[in-house]
Amino acid sequence: MNVDILLGKTVDHLVPVEGTKYFVHKQMLHDFLKLQKEAELAGFDLQIISAFRDYDRQLAIWNAKARGERELLDDQERPLNYATLSPTEIVFSILRWSAIPGCSRHHWGSDIDVYDAKTQRPEMVKLISSECEQNGPAAALHDWLDAHMLQGSSFGFFRPYRTDRGGVSPERWHLSYYPLSRRFLEAYTFSIFKNNIENGHIHFKEVVLDNLPEIYQRFLMNFDLP
Ligand SMILES: [Zn+2]
Repeated sequence: MNVDILLGKTVDHLVPVEGTKYFVHKQMLHDFLKLQKEAELAGFDLQIISAFRDYDRQLAIWNAKARGERELLDDQERPLNYATLSPTEIVFSILRWSAIPGCSRHHWGSDIDVYDAKTQRPEMVKLISSECEQNGPAAALHDWLDAHMLQGSSFGFFRPYRTDRGGVSPERWHLSYYPLSRRFLEAYTFSIFKNNIENGHIHFKEVVLDNLPEIYQRFLMNFDLP
């Protein structure tokens, strides 16, 4: 296993998704297109709104949030007041919604965020729970996906953030391709995690270093299985 794939530091494993600006793992594209076709037959337009993200992009997201330049949200998706939070509180509130650079499943090309282009314009998609639940515009698509996952007919796709396990917040829009992401996760050892933090230039690095085992367990290894 090439460690650079785990950390978002190579694009060698990727192919473009035709007609979009997104890239996914080359071994995942075929099954994604099958899932998309099934969704189309059921009346949905399953589209990607985020796929592969590289290390530097994740670093920009992390540092903007850690410096208070980008909104931080609480568990109910309400804005937090940056000025009142300690560095430790800031780090753990970022982790509920965003990964540390080098630790995102989006580095692997096996994970995507999706929406229903029948009911949502891409520029309006915010990736918040209310879009995907009850009467939200993507709720019907996600109910349909749930049914297919239960039947084992989702072509390998599942929801790693289906329930709240105290780590990453539930993200109904986030799908993962199990045949690949299982292998990536198995390869992602604590020592790879530790080296990545030590060698990175992330804001509040010292806080992360002080909480390495907890962050590794709660936010990387802690997710729902298919
Ligand atoms: Zn995602």
